[in-house]
Amino acid sequence: MGVNRLPLIAGNWKMNLDHLQAVAFVQKLHWTLKDAKHEEDSVEVAVFPPFTDLRTVQTLLDADKIPFALGAQDLSTKDSGAYTGEISGAFLAQLDCRYVIIGHSERREYHAETDEVVAAKVQAALRHGLAPVICVGETAEDLEKHGAAAVPVAQLEAALAGVAADADIVVAYEPVWAIGSGQAATPQQAQDVCAKLREVVGSALGADAAARTRVLYGGSVKSANIAGFMREPDVDGALVGGASLVADEFAAIIRYQKHVGV
Ligand code: PEP
Repeated sequence: MGVNRLPLIAGNWKMNLDHLQAVAFVQKLHWTLKDAKHEEDSVEVAVFPPFTDLRTVQTLLDADKIPFALGAQDLSTKDSGAYTGEISGAFLAQLDCRYVIIGHSERREYHAETDEVVAAKVQAALRHGLAPVICVGETAEDLEKHGAAAVPVAQLEAALAGVAADADIVVAYEPVWAIGSGQAATPQQAQDVCAKLREVVGSALGADAAARTRVLYGGSVKSANIAGFMREPDVDGALVGGASLVADEFAAIIRYQKHVGV
């Protein structure tokens, strides 16, 4: 964990939890952290519910003063118009979303999102004041053929084309082979790639951006392995899928500082 960067623990719910379940979940997570006397300022918590939950979760966070940031799981490259089924970044900004996940491997794989589409979505997010959480990562085949860093580095270079030096972005290194598999990367593997991704941010946006941008690790993160990742100097947090759907487990991940030596 870099010294001046606020750690970010982000829960990607994917297509899970309807808006009623989302309310119950957010309340339980908040109470669990309060009961444990979690220090709110020590780590930023963000949740990424499905689109249909966003308004309900926004209202709950606001009414109960729950200090979680809100994010969406995707957005359109377009801002408005005849694009049936698409969601504009303008709408997400109106819902107080701070973040939007872009280029998740499930979007790249099941919705054929290319590096060009990802770059256009990054631009769309920034146009509306949303911080893109840019996901990059190699498949098992890429890993065997090119090593761990080549594909994520190329994906990030493409995503950052035309991005301004002062842009507020987050990068998430998510090896595809580690997502949902129960087989996380080792902390050293995550550190090596996250350090290279930080170099890409430095080359594209400059040294200040490289120093302030949070680079997350994602892929089978759980309470039992989070502390190891967070000890690494270039890992500034985690993007968590499955384990972010279990309130006690997600709270334990958020409270990683309580685990030995972090
Ligand atoms: C993800 O989908 O972004 C993810 C990291 O999933 P999981 O934590 O379940 O591997």
